[in-house]
Amino acid sequence: MGIAENIMKLCKELPPGVKVVAVSKMRAPEEVMQLYSAGHKIMGENKVQELVEKKEALPDDIEWHMVGHLQTNKVKYIAPFVSLIHSVDSARLIKTINKEANKNERIIDCLLQVHIAKEESKYGFSEEEIISLLNSLSSENLTGLSIRGLMGMATFTGNDDLIRSEFRGLARLFHQVKESFFSKSGEFTELSMGMSGDYRIAVEEGSTIVRIGSRIFGERPV
Ligand SMILES: *Cc1c(COP(=O)(O)O)cnc(C)c1O
Repeated sequence: MGIAENIMKLCKELPPGVKVVAVSKMRAPEEVMQLYSAGHKIMGENKVQELVEKKEALPDDIEWHMVGHLQTNKVKYIAPFVSLIHSVDSARLIKTINKEANKNERIIDCLLQVHIAKEESKYGFSEEEIISLLNSLSSENLTGLSIRGLMGMATFTGNDDLIRSEFRGLARLFHQVKESFFSKSGEFTELSMGMSGDYRIAVEEGSTIVRIGSRIFGERPV
């Protein structure tokens, strides 16, 4: 099946209100254009350099999301245009994003990444760290950044029960944080969880944004 059919099928399957970020990492601009021509304009990348190159090569009305680990010294390259950073994983990164957003006179939407998987390799805060971070941030004046929700990646496994319990735990934390820290602001609405292999479970557990690569573009070249 082609890229256009894949995205149509996927969007038909998802409940209304669940957004799809098409993860275009390692795909040629021509492949991204096929998706764009099919009407899909929300793309995600996991590396700053690739994100900037694609942004420059492709139409201006694409909404670009950063989904991969972000180093503080690279924030400046994406701050002028990025729509949502899914992968905020340190207090230092928050301060840098705030500073670069102010320079660009923007408010940058961000998600806090939570480490929910069994694997060591994945980035993100623990539940305890999220709570203490938000307690310490409430006294700071972060005018350049809006914390819109949480992101998490489940363990890469065939064990659906494990995946479900990890997503369920993240959804529980999401509701707890929303109530404790964002009950008045209304900005905290997004829960980014689910990739090609596990998005169905993620959506059942309350995901509002799925990040899908191979199910749209086909298997990635290795
Ligand atoms: C690559 C990637 C995805 C998409 O992966 P697929 O399994 O191809 O859907 C989603 N999120 C992040 C953070 C990624 O790096």
